Amino acid sequence: MKTKIREIFTSIQGEGPYIGYKQLFIRFCKCNLNCNYCDTDFTQESAKEYSAPELAEIINRHYDCHSVSFTGGEPLTEVEFLKELLPLIKIPAYLETNATLNDNLSEIIKYIDYIAADIKLPSCTGLSGLWEKHDRFFKTSQGKKLFAKIVFDSNITNQEIEIACSLGKKYNIELVLQPKMTDSGISVTKDFIEQTLDKFITKYKNVRLIPQVHKFLDIR
Ligand code: SF4
Repeated sequence: MKTKIREIFTSIQGEGPYIGYKQLFIRFCKCNLNCNYCDTDFTQESAKEYSAPELAEIINRHYDCHSVSFTGGEPLTEVEFLKELLPLIKIPAYLETNATLNDNLSEIIKYIDYIAADIKLPSCTGLSGLWEKHDRFFKTSQGKKLFAKIVFDSNITNQEIEIACSLGKKYNIELVLQPKMTDSGISVTKDFIEQTLDKFITKYKNVRLIPQVHKFLDIR
């Protein structure tokens, strides 16, 4: 089978604890969610179709990269394609995911090395009903190099902090707080960032604040 890939490029990882590693990025086109702050271009005009062997051949040329980041969109929307592709690749697989498609994850998890999973806050995404999906997803992800990224803005609630920390504790996951970025920079004040970090840390210690470094460096 073939699937549409929006972009293939090398850059540094700009988010989370693996920040600064050189990666090959494979950007898929589709997503199952519709977050308020999404800046992904979902038009498919520039996308190109690849078969799994064609894409694996490109990936395997990048042995100098720390890993290959499957990103989007949501890569797990293309699970049938991933089932063909992942057994063919020879560098570690790093999955960037919205952590809502647990059944799809189950089908390919044996091929995945790193999981950068989102916790989607209703206050920031405008979406609700995802806590249970995140819970199931984190359960399936156990044993992998896993962290959870939480994009937040000034609307974050104490209840959201409570639930996110409970999930962190339950599955022993590092939580990475990421202030929402807008075209004019970080969307919240320094004081608000500090207060938010403190609220998390009083409930759960394994929390870090890491902004999107690639945006400061003006690289993608
Ligand atoms: S999960 Fe990511 S790609 Fe999908 S709508 Fe949300 S921000 Fe956009």
